[in-house]
Amino acid sequence: MPRADAGARRRADAFEAFDVVFAGERVLVGGAFVAAEVGVRGGRIAAIAPRSGADAARPAGGHRVDLARDEVLIPGLVDTHVHVNEPGRTEWEGFASATRAAAAGGVTTILDMPLNSIPPTVSVDALAVKRAAADGRVFVDVGFWGGLVPGGQGDLLPLHEAGVFGFKCFLVDSGVPEFPPVAADEMERAMAVLADAGSMLIVHAEDAALIAAAPNPHGRDYADFLASRPREAEQAAIRSVIDAARRTGASAHILHLSSGDALPELARARAAGVPITAETCPHYLVLTAEDVAPGATSAKCCPPIREAANRDALWTGLADGTIDLIASDHSPAPASLKLAGGGDFAEAWGGIASLQLGLPVVWTEARRRGIRLERVVDWMSGAPARRVGLASKGSIEVGRAADLAILAPDETFVVDAAALEHRHPITPYDGRELCGVVHATYLAGRRVDRDVPRGRLLRREGPPAESGDGAGDDA
Ligand code: ZN
Repeated sequence: MPRADAGARRRADAFEAFDVVFAGERVLVGGAFVAAEVGVRGGRIAAIAPRSGADAARPAGGHRVDLARDEVLIPGLVDTHVHVNEPGRTEWEGFASATRAAAAGGVTTILDMPLNSIPPTVSVDALAVKRAAADGRVFVDVGFWGGLVPGGQGDLLPLHEAGVFGFKCFLVDSGVPEFPPVAADEMERAMAVLADAGSMLIVHAEDAALIAAAPNPHGRDYADFLASRPREAEQAAIRSVIDAARRTGASAHILHLSSGDALPELARARAAGVPITAETCPHYLVLTAEDVAPGATSAKCCPPIREAANRDALWTGLADGTIDLIASDHSPAPASLKLAGGGDFAEAWGGIASLQLGLPVVWTEARRRGIRLERVVDWMSGAPARRVGLASKGSIEVGRAADLAILAPDETFVVDAAALEHRHPITPYDGRELCGVVHATYLAGRRVDRDVPRGRLLRREGPPAESGDGAGDDA
């Protein structure tokens, strides 16, 4: 028997044993798009083989997904910053609607923020309430952050043991009374505890005193709102996090970085070995202060969307690795809050709904800037998975979860807010033409069905990767 035939038969035998085989000309493996076949068994990727094109090598039975010419296969996205708001503010968003939106956008794992739900996730009991609300209602996998609030030191280790991925705190008013901010000294004491436990602290970094000192006018003019959340407030708060991380050795992460002015200081801290990382969000990478129309409070968020030159700085920060990852900060609210005050930026709720749109929003802008899709996917899947220690997620690799998305990167669509899966039809991207259409999303090897919730509730897998280990620099 010719050697090639024997090889083809062996491969065919091997692929027979899979539950499903994905085959495509562009499969994202090892940081590059290659022609490949991916065999899935028991919800995990069991084999990856080069695509031969020879029919003899193909499995006769079993389910097979052949990608179309315009489609690519990518790992499902991992969105580490989502406000689900259930229970307690379920009328804002909920586990079913949020995770349907995630799946429709190619996101297969979300981590839920500890606030806006009632109770906030600041104790083991509250985590149990949250998990009970989510159980059986999620369409993608869901993990949970814990919260650090004043007086909450004693809850940190029990929550860590209960499986939260780390702890969030605010250094400025959070917008909801049941989740107050902590002072810098309390944050540092908590970081000492988290360093010993091998957990991490994620921080909304705006300085309360500098925000209080800034002007806070009412009105429809976006420039006035922007002036109320100055860059200096972000920079000062980030500096205090860096200093505390340096002194305690705790792993720290800056949420939703908006100001490019903070990048040099973050880069210096990392170079000096301080265990600190940062994320930014689609809205800071795409929207600009110059383009926010008067009264367009769908674009209100804190920290705010800043000027076009600042947006360029954030892209540079991503490209050079100072910013590690992109997360949505999906934070929806009903129209009665999001559009409160008839366009008065001081009255409207701050938060941007974008969970379903993150990938096309970022990809459309990245492509315009000559950035490859491989990097975009790493910022939104591999890098967040690594940062939070989700070793089973974030790449197409043997042994990993078969969480996958089929994307048509060149296909365009116009956003219709009313057609999105999240609860309220409000998003600043309404009416935008974007490129990149998610054709299908697979969780543990099975296509997500919007009527059958098959997501699982996740516990922390292991210690988070720290900055400077090189894991984030391979894209
Ligand atoms: Zn948030």
